[in-house]
Amino acid sequence: MARIVMKFGGTSVANLDRIRHVAQRVKREVDIGNEVAVVVSAMSGTTNQLVDWVRGISVLHDAREYDVVVASGEQVTAGLTALALQELGLSARSWLGWQVPVMTDGVHGKARIEEIQTADLIARFAQGQIPVLAGFQGLGPDNRITTLGRGGSDTSAVALAAALNADRCDIFTDVDGVYTTDPRIVAKARKLHRITYEEMLEMASQGAKVLQTRSVELAMKHRVRLQVLSSFEDLPGTLVVDEDEIMEQELVSGIAYSRDEAKITLRQVADRPGVAAGIFGPLAEASVNVDMIVQNISADGKTTDMTFTVARTDLDRAVKILEEARSTLDYVALTADPTVAKISVIGVGMRSHAGVARKMFEVLGQKRINIQVISTSEIKVSVLIAEEYTELALRALHSAYGLDAS
Ligand code: ADP
Ligand code: ASP
Ligand code: MG
Repeated sequence: MARIVMKFGGTSVANLDRIRHVAQRVKREVDIGNEVAVVVSAMSGTTNQLVDWVRGISVLHDAREYDVVVASGEQVTAGLTALALQELGLSARSWLGWQVPVMTDGVHGKARIEEIQTADLIARFAQGQIPVLAGFQGLGPDNRITTLGRGGSDTSAVALAAALNADRCDIFTDVDGVYTTDPRIVAKARKLHRITYEEMLEMASQGAKVLQTRSVELAMKHRVRLQVLSSFEDLPGTLVVDEDEIMEQELVSGIAYSRDEAKITLRQVADRPGVAAGIFGPLAEASVNVDMIVQNISADGKTTDMTFTVARTDLDRAVKILEEARSTLDYVALTADPTVAKISVIGVGMRSHAGVARKMFEVLGQKRINIQVISTSEIKVSVLIAEEYTELALRALHSAYGLDAS
């Protein structure tokens, strides 16, 4: 007997037929004697609608009320899934985040799970009951509902698997695994049978939305056996594993893209000690994260240009903060460009091989795609380009690194 957590994403619970299908899939695991906990997302499209409603009524909304509204999608699917299981003759009940409780910190809209109390759930397992947890939500220290950031039910599932000491956490979605790049953009993308935690973490944090970044962080930390697979087809999925479980390391195992960033350039900033702190300090204070940064050498020894990226959703706020600080920062002009995309090539094999970045630059050069900013880490190279070239760049790089499916 194994204990498993099965998570179903938005398209997997998009209508009643699919929810019935989910119930059948869960029953299969129960029938072979496994203890199963289920985690569900809201029906696809629901959370976007809820977010739009909140923004429609209040642009600078109270994040606590945002959470009350956007958490509601998962309440519906948790209840419906429990009912569908009951219709199959199984014992099941829904659990909202606050009922478990799934305790989080108080950062509304982007809360982190701190603890999941599982005693009650485990007692119900013993009685043969299937808990169906509403993903994406928890309870903050202020005793109010929190949500975990978009895509957060993946994190609910992994955290629950860790807390329950589960043998597996299966993430059922609308693709049959993790691919070398988004299969919806590059038709020749190849399914990876295995990927390391580290690579998956980079892929997710550089934009591959198949798993929420925090879910991978948690899986890595607690060594949760994580699998991504299709909820529509019975196919082997992708297993996220330790590095030593992969025999032959590819140089590049995946390419991610993100259209969620925006570029800001400050022209002719006074080139003196403390200027970077002067720019990035106020942004950090306002919880605006800065990702890529380039600072030019000043031609005249007096001023320099500073270019960096922030989340596109933070752009307006970042510009406002920098405009307010203009007199102290002493720059001549500020330009903001939301039409950029970040492309990242990722692979643990890069650690021991040179030339990955050079190839990336050559391929983009041949396609006449201008690189605006570059950043690297041990297992990744990222470039910022104009958004309109995203697909062209992805396809060209995918071929150049030999990733195309034959
Ligand atoms: P769910 O609603 O099940 O959580 P998501 O839409 O959040 O599903 O994530 C699945 C989507 O992730 C896929 O439909 C696919 O377009 C996208 N995706 C991006 N990069 C990848 C990748 N490297 N491999 C697989 N899917 C990817
Ligand atoms: N329903 C939430 C969202 O759309 C959480 C999730 O799907 O994982 O972001
Ligand atoms: Mg998702």
